[in-house]
Formats: sequence, C-alpha cells, structure tokens
Amino acid sequence: MVVLDDTEVSRILVMAAHPDDVDFGAAGTVARWTEAGIEVVYCVVTDGDAGGSDRSVSRPDMAVLRRREQTEAADRVGVHDLRFLGYPDGRVEVTLELRKDLARVIRQVRPDRVLCPSPERDYVRPGISHPDHRAVGSAALDAVYPDARNPFAFPDLLAGEGLEPWTVREVWIIGTSTPTHYVDVTKTFPRKVAALRAHQSQTGERHDLEDMLRQRLARIAAQGGLPEGSLAEAFRVIDTG
Ligand SMILES: [Zn+2]
Repeated sequence: MVVLDDTEVSRILVMAAHPDDVDFGAAGTVARWTEAGIEVVYCVVTDGDAGGSDRSVSRPDMAVLRRREQTEAADRVGVHDLRFLGYPDGRVEVTLELRKDLARVIRQVRPDRVLCPSPERDYVRPGISHPDHRAVGSAALDAVYPDARNPFAFPDLLAGEGLEPWTVREVWIIGTSTPTHYVDVTKTFPRKVAALRAHQSQTGERHDLEDMLRQRLARIAAQGGLPEGSLAEAFRVIDTG
C-alpha cells in the first residue's frame, strides 16, 4: 500500500488512552514530523490516574501530575496542542459518547493523518493491549469512519457546534503486532528518551529505560529491514481516504 508522503501532510492527530502511550509508541516519529514543520496535536482520553505504584499520591493529584508530565513530554518533541478528555483510567469503553468526543476533536483539528492504539488483543504482549488501549483504538477508528466524515452522525456537532464533517486520509495504528510501515528514528531517539523521562512518575525508577528502548527499537528496525545500527518505530497504516 502507498503511504502518504509527509510533504502532503499538514496536520496529524495522535489519539492515546494514557499519558506516556504516545511517547513509548511514537515519540521518535512525532519528533521527525515536528522537525519537518508538520503540526501535531495530542488527544489523551484518560489522565492516567490509575498509574504509578505510589499509594501515598491521591488519584486526583496523580491525574494533575500526569497531565503536567505529558505536557512536558510533548514539548520535548515539539507538540504544544494537547486535548485531555478526562475519562477515568482503567474504565474506558467503546461508547457512543467516546466516539462523539473523538469525532469532535477530529473535526476541530482536521488532520490528514490520525494515530491511535490497536483495537486488537495481543496474546504475545498482553500489556500492550490494555483494555483502555483497545477501547480507544476501536472508538478512534469508528470516529475516523464513519463519524467524523458523515454530516448525519452526531448531527449536533454540525448543527450545534458548527463543526463541518472531515475525512481523515490515513490512520496509523501504534503498538500493532502486524506492522506494515517502519520509521527510522535513529536521529530523534534522544528526543524520545527525553520525552519518556518527562513521565517521572512512571519512568523515574526505570534506570534501564534507555537501554531497554534502544534494544526494542533496534529489533523493530531489523524486522523492517533497515540498515544495521538503525532504530525504528513501527505502525500499521490504513488508507481511510
Ligand atoms: Zn497505556
């Protein structure tokens, strides 16, 4: 399949279930895009308030902290527009309400390309198919098609909020077990690590973080047939135009 050339892309919307998801899955790629002058917007469905292991931090405080960490992480890869939807961490379901909320953000941002988590359960790496990831992935694909482009889907988005239908041309699935596209992030790898370090409450004690990431991204690059010594992030690209 043909992937849109980045020169044809002005805006990209990344949908994620939790703060830090985008940084583990795609921050090296995002840094490449912002360096090329493409506008990238993050939409984070939950505040990750069930994250971390520190029981002395109240959950509302954790939500505030994690929004702040995600905002800093985004800044480190050139992203300054973040939309937090405030759903409760660990309890996201594919509801009409979530589809409508995501369709609204698509119509507001008008992206050429959307990134989202995989809606599929991964039996090899169970952690990557957290129920919130699957729910957000499924609702995001429904929001791309048909909701955002159909004027008769959630008609009050148009009638009440004046949001015109919008057709997203391409979706990139993050964290898929069946990637079709590899992005060389060797040069932006330090920015990805910096972004992940901003999630202090999650990665503060991961002293092996950089080594672990380097190994993982080298493995992905080898899978994608990139030259030895390369680091890569992988996606499944879907033509939705
Ligand atoms: Zn997550």
